[in-house]
Amino acid sequence: MSFEATITSIHQMTPETKQFIVRADEEFEYEPGQHTTVQFDPEETGIDAEEEGTVVRPYTATNLPGTNAITLAIKRYEEGTASVYMHDRETDDTITLGDLEGNLTLRDVDEDVVFVSTGTGITPMIPMLRQYTREGTGEAHFFYGEKTQEDLMYRETLDALDAQNSNLSVVYSLSEEDWDGPTGHVQEHLSEYVDDPESRRYYTCGVPQMVVDTKEHLDELGVPDDRVVSEGWEDGAVED
Ligand SMILES: Cc1cc2nc3c(=O)[nH]c(=O)nc-3n(C[C@H](O)[C@H](O)[C@H](O)COP(=O)(O)OP(=O)(O)OC[C@H]3O[C@@H](n4cnc5c(N)ncnc54)[C@H](O)[C@@H]3O)c2cc1C
Repeated sequence: MSFEATITSIHQMTPETKQFIVRADEEFEYEPGQHTTVQFDPEETGIDAEEEGTVVRPYTATNLPGTNAITLAIKRYEEGTASVYMHDRETDDTITLGDLEGNLTLRDVDEDVVFVSTGTGITPMIPMLRQYTREGTGEAHFFYGEKTQEDLMYRETLDALDAQNSNLSVVYSLSEEDWDGPTGHVQEHLSEYVDDPESRRYYTCGVPQMVVDTKEHLDELGVPDDRVVSEGWEDGAVED
């Protein structure tokens, strides 16, 4: 089902990423980690699209449910379609959204959890982490990989949550900047920070290759497959 919603606030988060507050008439119903879809007809907007007909792209709600608003954090790609459409929007514009759905939701708030994401793959991790810091009773590790410090999304939020929650530790790894923190592929730092890796639940999201590499790395650390949660389509998107 699709419905109309109004953009009520736009904020530039990083050089390529904007946050949008989008409000509908009714309360949004979803579990933290799920995504809506942005839908539009490119012929009505002047945006070039490769496909015919309505463009439909998933974007994740980064706030917790309970109101008639969601926040979306969207990275713009130079050659993109929906990401360019969204970055061209202004406050008070109306957009069409689809119902929220998806597999990346917290399985159990009483177990120890590890979140591993890169790039915009952080978007489902943020509401799951917000939920865990409210309801969780175990230990949480949050690993996030980006290119440079200025590309890090939600750094203020994550640093504040890290400081407020003694059961949370946040690790950033940068692939294109030499700094005083970890560098290179974020998943390769897991064993430096996580004891007893096989006893925890993992949530991972990023480009398909990163998700597949993370699953392989966790397998090498002795983590059973059923303790790793991802959106679920990534294996099929990576060619052998
Ligand atoms: C479940 C799910 C949730 C998602 N949540 C979010 C979210 O919260 N925030 C967010 O920003 N995105 C999110 N995405 C990605 C989003 O759905 C789009 O794929 C992305 O915005 C690109 O769409 P587009 O229409 O602009 O580009 P497309 O029309 O799909 O692609 C056109 C061109 O843009 C460029 N491009 C597109 N994607 C990439 C890429 N990943 N890397 C490099 N170049 C690229 C390429 O040149 C490509 O040929 C999510 C995806 C999924 C599957």
